[in-house]
Amino acid sequence: MAIPVLQDLKDAGGNLIRSIKAPFRDDWCKKCGRSMNHPHQRLFAITDMRVGHYESHTEIDYYRGALWPVTSRSEIPAGVYACRAEEFHCPRCGRRKVKLTIFLPVRHHDKPEEIITFDNGKALDFLWN
Ligand SMILES: [Zn+2]
Repeated sequence: MAIPVLQDLKDAGGNLIRSIKAPFRDDWCKKCGRSMNHPHQRLFAITDMRVGHYESHTEIDYYRGALWPVTSRSEIPAGVYACRAEEFHCPRCGRRKVKLTIFLPVRHHDKPEEIITFDNGKALDFLWN
């Protein structure tokens, strides 16, 4: 896990400013500069997407209909895409972010296809029900 880096900078008047440079992190609130909670994670099969026919989707409604929850990777049928959904929640500003990692399970490794993030995490509450 990356650690925020302390950086010494000079402002226009030559004064020293100490700032914390926050590296890009999934569980980091850009607005508040602090780490977010990670309340949910779930694995799904994407029932209508098979190997060789990947199509990118950024509309939430698509995921409402296409994701089939599974309890483990072994339940995903061969040649079918999978989606790992993770939610991050900022305890200070309440920002909720959902990250979908879409991959093709190939034997013992995951072949990544696309990562899609949604800032309107509440609209994806159906993922956890
Ligand atoms: Zn925040």
